[in-house]
Amino acid sequence: MNVLTRGTVVIDTERCKGCELCIPACRPGVLAMSEDVNGQGVHFPILFAGCTACRACREVCPDFVFEVYRFDEPQMIPDGDDDAERANA
Ligand code: SF4
Ligand code: SF4
Repeated sequence: MNVLTRGTVVIDTERCKGCELCIPACRPGVLAMSEDVNGQGVHFPILFAGCTACRACREVCPDFVFEVYRFDEPQMIPDGDDDAERANA
């Protein structure tokens, strides 16, 4: 299933401290914590299709993990992991 998606986020996974504040802050519910861990040994957020580019994740994160980009035009993206760019992937 394709999901209307208005933007994407770059997730600097190595900065993440795993506090999970971003998960409930994301109103569309398109962030989830990874099964993998980063170099600090903590789980980090991953993005699924449906980001609205609302910037709530960026505002709530104490560790400046997110950069948010709004698409010029909304896109239909397959449901599932968005394969968002990750700075340290
Ligand atoms: S709010 Fe920031 S530090 Fe906390 S889990 Fe999310 S990305 Fe990591
Ligand atoms: S910009 Fe908004 S919709 Fe996109 S991941 Fe962040 S909180 Fe969720």
